[in-house]
Amino acid sequence: MEHAQPNARGLSLPTKILIGLVLGATVGVTLNLLYAPALGAVKPAAYVRVEWWADEIIRPLGNLFLSLLFMVVVPIVFSSLFLGVAGLGSVQKLGSLGSRTLLWFLGTTALATLIGIVLVRVIEPGKRVSAEVAAEIQRQYLGEAQARVAQSTQAKGWLEMIVDIVPRNVVGAAADNTKVLGLIFFALILGAAAMRLSPERTRLLRELLESLYELCVKVLNWVMELAPYGVACLIFHATAKLGLDVMKLVGWYFLTAMGGLVLYQVVVVTALAKVYAGLSPRRFYAGCRTLLVTAFSTSSSNATMPTTIRTAVDEFGAPKEIAGFVMPLGATMNMNGTAMFEGVSVLFLAQVYGKGLTFPEQVMVVGMAVLTAIGAAGVPGGSLPLLAVVLTQVGVPAELLALILGVDRLVDMTRTVPNVTSDLVCSLWLSRREGHALKT
Ligand code: ASP
Repeated sequence: MEHAQPNARGLSLPTKILIGLVLGATVGVTLNLLYAPALGAVKPAAYVRVEWWADEIIRPLGNLFLSLLFMVVVPIVFSSLFLGVAGLGSVQKLGSLGSRTLLWFLGTTALATLIGIVLVRVIEPGKRVSAEVAAEIQRQYLGEAQARVAQSTQAKGWLEMIVDIVPRNVVGAAADNTKVLGLIFFALILGAAAMRLSPERTRLLRELLESLYELCVKVLNWVMELAPYGVACLIFHATAKLGLDVMKLVGWYFLTAMGGLVLYQVVVVTALAKVYAGLSPRRFYAGCRTLLVTAFSTSSSNATMPTTIRTAVDEFGAPKEIAGFVMPLGATMNMNGTAMFEGVSVLFLAQVYGKGLTFPEQVMVVGMAVLTAIGAAGVPGGSLPLLAVVLTQVGVPAELLALILGVDRLVDMTRTVPNVTSDLVCSLWLSRREGHALKT
């Protein structure tokens, strides 16, 4: 598991990504300021050369990074959701403890997404550029995806959207980026069927998918190592062609996402700890210090899990069995911060793209953010491939991820904190319900 500690060459990955962002943006903005003509004016030869480099060399390199990220979408979505639902067989046996845990996961995840969506609607970070720049961004990112995206951008009614979820051909759904919801549906149904069969009959498939999932997570780790270069290329291309306005958008997005996550942690999780675990904010954060630092610095719910269990048991006196049941499930399924980040990012990029989402589409974003947060791996960048799925599903080109990737590592570190503190509070709530006195 990768950590935020410095590597052999001295710089940690988050630092390198930040350097990539700053370098790419500085060179891009400088060239744009120096050579870009006013809108509509004839392009000087020097700017034509900058554009050639940006379009023909740098952008394909950045897209290579994006493709590597998108490459793991189908296997990771399918394996994680199938295994998640199939594994619920054992949760069912645990009766009310299991169902309460799931209720907590779904309820808090949906709440976080809703708050994120409301924030973006109020702040409107994606509309902070002039109409000309917005039009240019749309033109730039329309690209190859245009035809298919245009198809799915036609506003759909409730019934049509629900009917569309069921794929007629599951292989076709997996092969078409705009239909991954069909694959998600199939994985959930198949997982539900697996719950009904005896474990012996599904053991082989489960083991196979577990390996597939582990392999995808490994590949994702490798891809994230390339993030500093990918981010530098993508942000260079965006700024060289669109200028400083892009950075303004990135800044507004960053503020909205970070503001939402901090708000969720400080207000919502703290209130949940008070109401459900009877812990004062002071006591809660005094016991959580190591947990917060670990989640923030590793950016990984999985890597933090041992600390989450230890915090629940040693700091707050939860029984080992309850912490040992909730945390492994929560580390992969319960990601409040991730769901909020997905809601914020999808709505922000839809705003940038000038695509107003209808009410049914916004409900779909909430549903998909919850589902994909469940499906996301608890590793750095684990939700990025799934965010691409949600974007495509609502008709926003996934290539627009280029705009937010540069700041994602910091957002990722921050969203991992509520991801794990929500698991912690859930385990404390259940401990209390089962009659165990907590160390308050
Ligand atoms: N890094 C997050 C976690 O491990 C997952 C994500 O949102 O990318 O909880």
